[in-house]
Amino acid sequence: MTIVDVHTHLMWFPDHIEESTAREALSAKLVKFERSSGLAHAAHLDLHCWDSTPEEHWAAAQEADRVVVFGLHAKPSRIFVPNEVVADYVRRDPERLEGWASVNPAEPGAVEELEHCVQDLGLRGLKVGPTYQHWDPRDPRKWAVFEYCARHDLPVIIHQGTTFPSTARLGYAQPLQLEPMLMHFPDLRVIIAHLGHPWEQDVVALMRKVPNLYADISALHYRPYRYWHAMITAFGYGVTRKLLLASDFPSATIGQTLAGLRRVNDIVAGTPLPMLPGDEQERIVHENWRRFFGVA
Ligand SMILES: [Zn+2]
Repeated sequence: MTIVDVHTHLMWFPDHIEESTAREALSAKLVKFERSSGLAHAAHLDLHCWDSTPEEHWAAAQEADRVVVFGLHAKPSRIFVPNEVVADYVRRDPERLEGWASVNPAEPGAVEELEHCVQDLGLRGLKVGPTYQHWDPRDPRKWAVFEYCARHDLPVIIHQGTTFPSTARLGYAQPLQLEPMLMHFPDLRVIIAHLGHPWEQDVVALMRKVPNLYADISALHYRPYRYWHAMITAFGYGVTRKLLLASDFPSATIGQTLAGLRRVNDIVAGTPLPMLPGDEQERIVHENWRRFFGVA
């Protein structure tokens, strides 16, 4: 059985993340720890708490058979990982590691940078995040990178959903903002990260009507009620077969994400509320990625 992780990061402080953003990341993580495991575990956290260095990523990657990894070009959010860093890293194990590019569609030369990433660096997909990169997903002038991806059949992952930096533009983060672009490029294979949290139901509505739209389930298991509700909503609308396994490392490992999926129904145990069937969970783990990647 093959385990595929479609969403992991390579980036570390201070090389790729400026201090102001690292401080906000630390605060967000402290809140998460306080809520779950208590302050004792939070005490050792510092500005490196979101680091994913090659060594740290490599250790975590051993839990999956194939791992998609990317940086992020988001200067407006004070995050910038050169695509060369990702390309260098994935050469360590091209069987297990699949590097994707990140470019900012709002910057001049974005298509040329993407072309360089694909043709010269061997990267095989695109990561963007309008909320981090400050561009309006409904503005067709920002769609040239998607045109390129559609033409070359490159998959795209979009961070559409909330996030912690004070610089984020949440008006650009809402999933329904993507509808015109998705309708314009019906063949484009797209993953919305984190099921668009906390707008999961909007992503379910979009997946139902957009044939090549998928979503990953990373970073959801920390909030058990929302997670269960999102998965039951997806099941009710018949789109759980478009959900992909992902860790969002370093925010979690694939093992933690799998354990979270296995516990998705715990919050309603002993109640008459519906549960996500076990066979749907198995498809999320073992099958759905095949459809997205076109693997028989
Ligand atoms: Zn992520």
